[in-house]
Amino acid sequence: MTPASPDGRLGRHLLLELYDCDPHLLNDVTAIESSMEYAATEAGATIINTTFHYFAPWGVSGVVVIQESHLSIHTWPEYGYAAVDVFTCGDTVDPREAAALLAQKLKAERQEVSEIERGNLQAIGREFTPLPQGREPAESALREIRRTRDVWFTERNRRVALSLKHKGDKLFDARSDYQRVEVYDTDEYGPMLALDGAIMCTRQDEYAYHEMIAHVPMLRHPAARRVLVIGGGDGGTVRELLRHEGLEEVVLVEIDALVIEASRKHLPFLSESLDDPRLSIHIADGKAYVQEAAEEAFDLVIVDSNDPVGPSKGLFDEAFYRHAYRILKPEGILITQSESPRFNSVVFRDVYRCLGGIFGPPQVHCYLSFIPTYPTGMWSFSFSSKGARHPVQGLDQERSNAFSAREGLRYYNAAIHQAAFALPPFVQEMLPTA
Ligand code: SAM
Repeated sequence: MTPASPDGRLGRHLLLELYDCDPHLLNDVTAIESSMEYAATEAGATIINTTFHYFAPWGVSGVVVIQESHLSIHTWPEYGYAAVDVFTCGDTVDPREAAALLAQKLKAERQEVSEIERGNLQAIGREFTPLPQGREPAESALREIRRTRDVWFTERNRRVALSLKHKGDKLFDARSDYQRVEVYDTDEYGPMLALDGAIMCTRQDEYAYHEMIAHVPMLRHPAARRVLVIGGGDGGTVRELLRHEGLEEVVLVEIDALVIEASRKHLPFLSESLDDPRLSIHIADGKAYVQEAAEEAFDLVIVDSNDPVGPSKGLFDEAFYRHAYRILKPEGILITQSESPRFNSVVFRDVYRCLGGIFGPPQVHCYLSFIPTYPTGMWSFSFSSKGARHPVQGLDQERSNAFSAREGLRYYNAAIHQAAFALPPFVQEMLPTA
């Protein structure tokens, strides 16, 4: 803790009443957390730990513990009101600066500030008396101030009232020209990548996505040599593809270099293959890339995109799919992540109608995988064959199982490959009829 200040007190404690704030901001745990951290760091404080909690349906409470004491907040979005404490000891941080920054961030139209002096030395009535030696905390406890957090990451889908909450420690948070890129180390699912607040993958269940997007086409195609991956900057799909020895080249086209940076830094289990000599990485828009790509250049095209928002939007339309068809070799297969049939049914229907119009409905199939951290857990992929190759009929089950066993796969095997194409009636009826 910081020593007493010259005017005979240990600290300054501001109580802030913030009125007529933006209620949506007051209800957004991520915005509150980043505003509190911003106010603390801009005022010169050193953050030690934070914990924030969102109270459904509304309200956030949070504390930022700083080396110079703390900032705390409790919000009442329904009243546009927030109760804030800014407590600093010593004189290196001006609590009024942190308070003013926070009021600005939360768009408070009115505010009241009262200041209480803390630790008046006269009232304490004793001189500074260091503790006797040998009772210091263990050396390690003093050695480094590790910045940790207990923050609830909330993926809230604005279209429907659905939110997924994960408690954990924030490891990375930055904005590129395309999206906000966050990485958390969550208590239950381990390291987690989120883009614009949507969960992309977690250590605990990413393999159910990456094994299925890669091995279903690779073990159905007779001998894929050259594969194009669009999106997938975390590296999971590339990691799975490069398990196949016969593969000669993977081209990864990822629009956002920040995703690759975050994955290399905090998600080594995903990005481990990004330096493989068979891989070439292009930081570019996949939509533009396929327009320029040569005719019949690839055995597989795999679209490992986000939801059809932001930069991913262009990866869900007919023009894009027509170019993907054009650059596939005659036996080529197009795989796309095609969202959750239950949760994004409009997009789901559009994707399959569009692909059916290009490849012919009999060549377009849907298969499922189960990924707990995705909305509803049920996720789909489209399998579109240029050469009328059925995804299951003719599957070499022995080859699939031998590959799965040799590679120690945790989700894919021959039985799962076949079962994935067995669709519940509510999904089947959403697909275009042959
Ligand atoms: N592989 C992850 C998983 O386990 O589900 C999620 C998909 S991956 C993170 C989605 C990637 O697509 C993001 O890195 C995003 O930057 C990238 N992306 C979005 N639009 C793109 C575009 N038009 N061209 C290339 N990459 C794009």
